[in-house]
Amino acid sequence: MSERQKSLNELEGPVTEVPIDIPERTILVRCPHCRHAIDAGVLKQNLDVCPRCGKHMRIGARRRLALTADQGSFEEWDADIEAKDILSFPDYKEKLAAARQKSGGEKEAVICGRATIQGEPCALFIMNGDFMMGSMGAAVGEKICRCFERATEEGLPVVGFTVSGGARMQEGLTSLMQMAKVSNAVRRHSAAGLLYICVLTDPTSGGVTASFAMEADITIAEPDALVAFAGPRVVEQTTHKKLPQGFQRSEFVLAHGFCDMVVERKEIPSTLGYLLWLHDKEAWGTREAPKCAAAFPEEARWPLPHHLEKPAAADASAYDLVKRVRNADRPSVPSIMDMTFEGFIELHGDHEFGDDAAIVAGLATLDGHPVTVIATDRGRGIKERVARNYGSPEPEGYRKSLRLMKEAEKFHRPVICLVDTSGAYPGMEAEEHGQGAAIADNLVAMGALRTPEITVIMGEGGSGGALGLAVSDRVLMLSDAVYSVVSPEGCSTILFKTAKRAADAAEALGITAPFLKDLGIIDGIVDAEGFGTEEFAERFRKCLADQVQELEGMTEGELVDARYEKYRAIGRRDS
Ligand SMILES: [Zn+2]
Repeated sequence: MSERQKSLNELEGPVTEVPIDIPERTILVRCPHCRHAIDAGVLKQNLDVCPRCGKHMRIGARRRLALTADQGSFEEWDADIEAKDILSFPDYKEKLAAARQKSGGEKEAVICGRATIQGEPCALFIMNGDFMMGSMGAAVGEKICRCFERATEEGLPVVGFTVSGGARMQEGLTSLMQMAKVSNAVRRHSAAGLLYICVLTDPTSGGVTASFAMEADITIAEPDALVAFAGPRVVEQTTHKKLPQGFQRSEFVLAHGFCDMVVERKEIPSTLGYLLWLHDKEAWGTREAPKCAAAFPEEARWPLPHHLEKPAAADASAYDLVKRVRNADRPSVPSIMDMTFEGFIELHGDHEFGDDAAIVAGLATLDGHPVTVIATDRGRGIKERVARNYGSPEPEGYRKSLRLMKEAEKFHRPVICLVDTSGAYPGMEAEEHGQGAAIADNLVAMGALRTPEITVIMGEGGSGGALGLAVSDRVLMLSDAVYSVVSPEGCSTILFKTAKRAADAAEALGITAPFLKDLGIIDGIVDAEGFGTEEFAERFRKCLADQVQELEGMTEGELVDARYEKYRAIGRRDS
């Protein structure tokens, strides 16, 4: 409406009752990824994600807040803290003034406060790429540090969104020190047993990547976000190599074990809500879990095979059982896991080098209470089996498991390991990356873990590869599972000088559940034969829930002491 029309209307009332058709003006925006022109209105409705190629565009902190926090729930903290030009750095004052204008009047490159996300209370910091590319000077560091300190005082989890070009050069070494300052505040918050979830958005780099962006209990990344310490141009200039497609992008970060999951923008609030709920004791009995798509998919993630196995014959030999548990038709551990637990959300990565697909691990609920579940996965179909190393973990798998066990310990959450593996993967890279050291670390850590641990040998329990997930308060075996120091074939070749005597070796090694129960190596047998899979899953769930309940009646100290005595007793000599 023109100024003239408006003033006319105000003075004299409507000029006409007939609505005037004003042609809608379409503003087009070009997608920086697929180069298509997109209607700005459509783009906004689609949360600034390109409807054609899925590119997640950069968005400012206020918009991010509006997309994340429950409406009206945000209470801002420390809004008045702003940068000071302590070095009288050339042009800094002008740059700050320009940044304030560009960001719509923000005083600094982060906003902090308290909010609820899907009903779950949390402290929140959201960095702002519109303000000097989210660079971190003293004011940004101070605000985030205060956010962690206040969250620690008030017993709140912290959710942070990072976007940053790194430390702000204009404030010299004071900027660099913010990395240490915030990291210490993160550590204190963590030591108070509180959760920190970080969401990496495009771009997260430099000093922010090398500090609080990588210090969370759970790390999420938006698709295709650049997450780097040294930026790609610096790496290219230094190495004189052209970087491969996707280098330092979210999916690369996921594959290298440094984030737990890549989540589309539209799913981020429900994912955060669910993760917060899983860590909020008060919510379990009173509020329904937020239904995030990753945890509550519409279709089964690990469908059961069409042809289920028959019960083992009454006179089955030990070697018959070995062949039986290796049968491709046997339901995979994740498919049984999916039927036994609710709302499983997979977490990835060892935070050191990689993510091992032979181990599927994450959080779920058992009878409404959160548990950490770690399962070996042989895969379904030849392609997936190869990708998952036929369920033989690499060091990264044991390290991922250990990382998640530690996370469980921090939140006093029971750990349930479901094991079906021929053994740890005997590959070159596995040796280079320290397979032996990774298993050894798990034995020590599991022995000392101050939270209940249950391991179930679901099929094949192959040697050290199985034991790396099986130093537990309760070690159970399915009635038709086997657990052995070496594969029968390996034993036959080494001791009998022929692979043909595997059946004799299997018999001699003592690998069946009843034998190991009598020997005191395992604590119980789960009857697994003669049921339909659903009935089995129901019985299995009840069995696990009973065990968890029993163990939760013990103090952390009692658990660790009893675990020590249990393993101390195996092969004990009293004289
Ligand atoms: Zn696009």
